[in-house]
Amino acid sequence: MARVVERRTVGRTRSCPHCRATILESSSVCPACRHHLRFENRRGEEQNPASQVALKVSGQFARAASAGPGEYHVVVVIRDAGGAELARKVIGVGGLAPGEERKVDLSVEIFDPTAA
Ligand SMILES: [Zn+2]
Repeated sequence: MARVVERRTVGRTRSCPHCRATILESSSVCPACRHHLRFENRRGEEQNPASQVALKVSGQFARAASAGPGEYHVVVVIRDAGGAELARKVIGVGGLAPGEERKVDLSVEIFDPTAA
C-alpha cells in the first residue's frame, strides 16, 4: 500500500531474500531475521535508525498450573483511523504446559523516507 508524497513513494515493499518476510524496500537490515541485505537502499546508505518509535508494548501471558496444558495464538491487526482492517497476521502459535509463560514484545518504528 504505497503512498506518493512529494514525488516520492513511501511504504514500498520487497521480500527479504533470507526469510521471505515482506519488508520496506528501504530496509538495509531485515527486521524479521536481522540479516543484512545485499542490496542497500538507492543511495547506498545504511538505513537511518528509526526517527520515531511510535509504539512499544511488552507483556506476558501464562497458563495457570491448575488449568492443565493450553494452546495459544498471537494475532496482530493493523487498522486505519476509520477502523478498516489493513492487515491481520498470526505471529505465532504454540502450546503451554501448566504454569508455563511466554513474553510478547510489539514495536512500531517509523522511518523518514529516503530520497529517490
Ligand atoms: Zn529476513
